[in-house]
Amino acid sequence: MPRGQEPLLSEDRPSSDHSDERSIEEEDALLTGQQRPQVRKYGWDFWREVGLFAWATLATAIVIILAVMYQHKQTAHPNSSGGDWKDGRPSGKRNLIFMVSDGMGPTSLSLTRSFRQVESGLPIDDLLALDQHLIGSSRTRSSSSLITDSAAGATAFSCGKKSYNGAISVLPDHTPCGTVLEAAKRAGYMTGLVVTTRITDATPACFAAHVNQREEEDRIAEQEVGEHPLGRMVDLMLGGGRCHFLPNTTDGSCRGDDRDIVELAKSNGFSYVDDRNGFDGLNLGNSVKLPLLGLFASTDIPYEIDRRQMDDVYPSLDEMARTALKALSAATKDSNKGFFLMIEGSRIDHAGHGNDPVAQVHEVIAYDKAFASVLDFLDKDDVQGVAISTSDHETGGLATARRTFKATPSPLHVHRAPLTSNRTPLHLPRIPLVPRATHQRYPFLRKPRLPPALPPQQPPNPRQRHLSPLLLLPPKLHPPPLRNRSRRLRRYRRRSRPPRRPPAGLARLLRLRGHHQPPGAGRVEHPRTFSRRRAHLR
Ligand SMILES: [Zn+2]
Repeated sequence: MPRGQEPLLSEDRPSSDHSDERSIEEEDALLTGQQRPQVRKYGWDFWREVGLFAWATLATAIVIILAVMYQHKQTAHPNSSGGDWKDGRPSGKRNLIFMVSDGMGPTSLSLTRSFRQVESGLPIDDLLALDQHLIGSSRTRSSSSLITDSAAGATAFSCGKKSYNGAISVLPDHTPCGTVLEAAKRAGYMTGLVVTTRITDATPACFAAHVNQREEEDRIAEQEVGEHPLGRMVDLMLGGGRCHFLPNTTDGSCRGDDRDIVELAKSNGFSYVDDRNGFDGLNLGNSVKLPLLGLFASTDIPYEIDRRQMDDVYPSLDEMARTALKALSAATKDSNKGFFLMIEGSRIDHAGHGNDPVAQVHEVIAYDKAFASVLDFLDKDDVQGVAISTSDHETGGLATARRTFKATPSPLHVHRAPLTSNRTPLHLPRIPLVPRATHQRYPFLRKPRLPPALPPQQPPNPRQRHLSPLLLLPPKLHPPPLRNRSRRLRRYRRRSRPPRRPPAGLARLLRLRGHHQPPGAGRVEHPRTFSRRRAHLR
């Protein structure tokens, strides 16, 4: 049927030109007297709008594509602004400097900042070098205690695994874990340890040795100089702890046997210095022959506040750190690998244990100075490097508070270990408000080699109850013993060994080590026996 002749109600008949819309428009035109404007199809306006729309779409797409590409590049190469990258990983030479401010908590830092500002007349907003690089915190949780000790803390750093207090880079099941220093050495990097305590103490030991208990310092010394399953791992060691390297047939030894570890080190190629003259001969790292073993004190290097009076006897942490940086940097000059160096401000920890804020402040200042030297080295060195500084735990429970007595001249008052039992001043301050009733053993821990913890000897002080959320836990969830086992071990060894008079001044430090019995040599005295006897004596 020709178009236009189909029936009116046919379904495929197109609608008429005289549609309702058109009728309304015509009616409007009639009423207003205005002629309906002739719409020019596809005029200039139309094409301008189409062009603008197309341009906006295109520009948006380009911006999105560029943003995605930039994001992808940043994710794959976070530091693509410098250094060479291959397969999404940095290639080329890198140095890693890992610093530990042992036992330093936020209050140590705060007190040190205020002390330095007041003492040196610095502006009120003066900051330590450490303050200017604060980015966060690290967690070093011990698997056996609420309170992490240096060994568990350093194992967390060196292995990246949590373990029990006293563990020297071994896991809770006593399997050794590979450390970052060992990995670096095997990858061809040079390695170093710089401390102000014994080089066999927990923190340095955790990078270069594996033993079950931190007291096994004789064994740690042997491993550090090369009697290690992987061979010699450390190229440079500076610190104290000479007595663990000397045979017990010589003066100044604290070894349990007659092995001469200095001789062992020399036979493994180490050059050895043991006094300030020897250190000065290193010429701040310019005249170092690696591997190097430098032991400048029989045990610990004195606290900085004492050491600076004996500068001709003991080198400072900063001097040792700069020497190590220079020496390792020179030794890796022609290598395509860098170095790994661990630097520890070791005795912040000891000052905290001793509730000695004066010593602690000066230890933190010495550490801050070494940190600033490391930053300076990184700024000036051609090789790219990373410095990390962190603490393993806090010791002493230091708190700063304002004293409100009128007679107090200073706004700064060092508030020592509040509300602690007078029997355990060394430990409770770390969590000062937990009374001794919380001495419970965790059943899920491995079987301890030591006697069980002391039973509760005094009821919890009701005045403290509301202060300690820990006490609100059901008994099974009470925290593990507050005394860490290594310290208890030392105390009982001290009790059970024959009387011996070390030289005055060293007595306390010597007492802090339990080297007279080889590890595992017989049971130590049961604490309950001990406490009963003590009660009887009183
Ligand atoms: Zn520590």
